[in-house]
Amino acid sequence: MPAKKLALVKSAGQIARDEGVSLYLVGGAVRDLLLGRPTEDLDLVVEGDAEILACIMAKRLSGQVVSRSQFSTAKIKVDGVSLDMITARSEHYSRPGVLPQIAYGNMEEDLARRDFSVNAMAFPLHLGGSAQLLDPFDGESDLERGLIRVLHDKSFVDDATRIMRAVRYEQRLGFRMEDDTETKLLRDVTMLDTISGHRLCREFHLWLAEEHCVETLVRADRLGIMAAIAPSLAGLSQLVESVLLGAERRSVDEQVILGILTYPLDSSDGAKIIGRLHMSPRWATVVRDTIALRSELPRLSDARLSPSYLYETLVTSTTAAVQACAMASTSEDASSNLKLFLDKLRHIKPSLGGKDLIELGVPQGRAIGDMLVKLRSAKLEGTITSRAEEVALVKNWLTMQIT
Ligand code: ATP
Ligand code: MG
Repeated sequence: MPAKKLALVKSAGQIARDEGVSLYLVGGAVRDLLLGRPTEDLDLVVEGDAEILACIMAKRLSGQVVSRSQFSTAKIKVDGVSLDMITARSEHYSRPGVLPQIAYGNMEEDLARRDFSVNAMAFPLHLGGSAQLLDPFDGESDLERGLIRVLHDKSFVDDATRIMRAVRYEQRLGFRMEDDTETKLLRDVTMLDTISGHRLCREFHLWLAEEHCVETLVRADRLGIMAAIAPSLAGLSQLVESVLLGAERRSVDEQVILGILTYPLDSSDGAKIIGRLHMSPRWATVVRDTIALRSELPRLSDARLSPSYLYETLVTSTTAAVQACAMASTSEDASSNLKLFLDKLRHIKPSLGGKDLIELGVPQGRAIGDMLVKLRSAKLEGTITSRAEEVALVKNWLTMQIT
């Protein structure tokens, strides 16, 4: 753990000991530390009131409590490092897919509510040097064997987002699902129907943000998870795989991957997926624009199209959609036209602005906008290149208005 984080975690343990409460580092941080991977979030569980301990810690360490909620959680920030604190709890699911009922409990109960054995380990911080890992589900041996394993038979039924999480961790860590877990996943995959669009979309987002997102989508498809989310998503990971094979993954934006994934859909299936995942307006636009632009590609598959025509046709689509179509299209002419737009045409602007035009005598109002469009078209076509030529074009136009 980086020195600054380690020092903070140690101080947190010391304060907990002084206050006589048990405090544990849990979940992803423990897993990643044991794997020697960099840790992002530091999640701490308190056997006691997390909010109160957070306030004491913030005060003693000259930090701030940056958020707290009625569910006994709090986030503190000390010297740029944040700690997420939560009161130990047990959970009970009254129905599949609904949010669980919560009761405060001890660390063992808190670990039992978690998703996978590798995420269900806790390291006591209040015990100092004599601390031993709390690992009731043998997470450490699953880490050694590279296995993702649920804690009980009904895990995916209680919360089917774990189906999507299982694939994400498997692919991120280079693990595989333990056989029995995979059997349960296949048995319970339709439980994804019980999950709200908002939660599904959040998990989908997390997939696309993964470095191994292509492998994650492909694996999810093979397991029938894509089909369970929406029937028309089945089989679509193949295109993503073939398009992004060899591409530098980090250079491809999440929204572009979303576009490539939904590229083959028709607009009615696109609308269904937007609805099922309760997509944000931004994401929905990427999906809609990609599908609409794909149907325009035959018209754009012509190497002789003028730059201003390309500009006017493509400028109304969101950039991620144009990128997705450029990558997914099988027409070389269409792809190179879209790339020309992305790399060059969309950046071309007249050097003169509205104010310059007014100074030159263009009447205020619509004429300004029209003139700017004319200037841009002339620049796109290459008939003018310099500022002086722009000025000449404007003056020429003004003379024509007078005569
Ligand atoms: P990441 O690196 O992806 O953030 P993480 O393990 O920190 O991995 P989070 O989503 O931040 O994952 O959740 C923190 C912890 O909360 C997990 O390690 C797991 O123990 C628990 N958890 C999260 N989501 C669920 C869930 N749906 N069901 C059960 N436990 C969960
Ligand atoms: Mg986390």
